[in-house]
Amino acid sequence: MTHAVVLGASMGGLLAARALVGVYDRVTVVDRDPLPEDVGHRRGVPQARHFHTILVRGLRAMEEMFPGLTAELVADGGIPVGFTVDSRFVLAGHRMVRVDTGASDLQATRPMLEGAIRARLAKLPGVRLVPDHDVTGPVFEGGRVTGVEVSRDGVAEVLRADLVVDAMGRTGRARSWLAAEGLPTPAEDRIDVNMVYASRLVRPTTPFPDKLVLVGPVPGRPTGFAFAAQEHGRWMVTQVGMAGDHPPTDESGFLAFLKRSAPPDVYDAVAASEPLTEIRAHRFPASLRRRYERLRGFPPGLLVFGDAMCSFNPIYGQGMTVAALESEALRRCLRDGDGDLARRFFREAARIIDPVWQLNALGDLALPEIPGHRSPSTKALNRYVARLQRVAAHDPVAATAFIRTIGLLQPPTSILRPNVLARVVVGGLRRE
Ligand SMILES: Cc1cc2nc3c(=O)[nH]c(=O)nc-3n(C[C@H](O)[C@H](O)[C@H](O)COP(=O)(O)OP(=O)(O)OC[C@H]3O[C@@H](n4cnc5c(N)ncnc54)[C@H](O)[C@@H]3O)c2cc1C
Repeated sequence: MTHAVVLGASMGGLLAARALVGVYDRVTVVDRDPLPEDVGHRRGVPQARHFHTILVRGLRAMEEMFPGLTAELVADGGIPVGFTVDSRFVLAGHRMVRVDTGASDLQATRPMLEGAIRARLAKLPGVRLVPDHDVTGPVFEGGRVTGVEVSRDGVAEVLRADLVVDAMGRTGRARSWLAAEGLPTPAEDRIDVNMVYASRLVRPTTPFPDKLVLVGPVPGRPTGFAFAAQEHGRWMVTQVGMAGDHPPTDESGFLAFLKRSAPPDVYDAVAASEPLTEIRAHRFPASLRRRYERLRGFPPGLLVFGDAMCSFNPIYGQGMTVAALESEALRRCLRDGDGDLARRFFREAARIIDPVWQLNALGDLALPEIPGHRSPSTKALNRYVARLQRVAAHDPVAATAFIRTIGLLQPPTSILRPNVLARVVVGGLRRE
């Protein structure tokens, strides 16, 4: 009987486990939290109290893994939102023209999404969810990982496994395990965004015309927000502030902060709405990428997955989508057996992460407030993107190219295709 143990039962762990079902006879998913039957919050995923968009690219991948998931989420109140048909995007200060870009998301609270996936995973053959168990360390034997030590109420136990997957989030346990064994550790790339999220759920008192309003930061004002319809008539108000310009969590401070970036109709709708939860903050100091794909001598029997490998700036809303794409990649790698699995998987994952990381870095470094080296090509690209965003305020082709790219439906290079480039040059000149 082959056995895989996934550490962490958040979106990364659940999606990693899905890839392992049917390949390993048993798949055990361990988390230190109790895993609620309903759609409750839990300590290990504090970000769940903030806006979580699932991009259509990620949703499609999840639908392949769990057929019927999308219909179930919609039946439970999840809201499909077309970008920018029934949503308003204000990026770099420009309101994107309304056009059917083919990009979209599904809007539901994070506990609802995670709960639906967890319930479906738990029903698959060979899967066992093990809540309330703290992972305390790996078992190394003969140069490979052969299991993991877990503990509950101070009682330790070893789970033997042919494969152990670290999906315990951005703190990076696997990295310290390697260091403790005297093995090489991955280099870490980071972008210090010094960001805080502050969010609450509200119920608007009058119907609001868009299902999503997204306002991004601009140079000189590194703040923004999302006002997003969620299941059962609730709306999420999420504010973000980067580079130390952080949203407060008191009532009047929260609204005053919103006034800096919100169009008047959004501000009025939020101010008049009925608060349903407290305002909660979440600190996100830096985007982190651990370069496992560059390591030599990674121990067999271990993989790293999801935020443990790369934790993206969440304002771009891509972490869960990337985890779904990593799950597809893991499944593909396992078709060729588990020989040299880590090297093959990390290489595949890097191909997924590279363009997303670069795109996000470009967005972050467009803000002079964010520290970091800007190469001449970064500066040139950012001048181009600024112009593209300006043109996208009136040009459907430019808007479609940009929105589909940030929605991960096409590679970043597609914003440089001749038809887009021509419009950026001509449209940009017209408005200068
Ligand atoms: C504020 C914020 C907003 C975000 N918004 C979006 C968004 O809009 N769209 C999007 O796609 N992504 C978003 N993300 C990213 C998304 O939350 C993650 O990419 C996603 O949850 C996958 O992460 P993960 O499962 O790898 O790690 P995590 O979600 O961090 O989960 C780690 C899990 O490991 C468990 N764990 C930790 N330590 C132990 C231990 N010692 N023993 C046992 N269990 C342990 C925890 O309980 C938890 O369940 C956002 C992130 C943040 C911070």
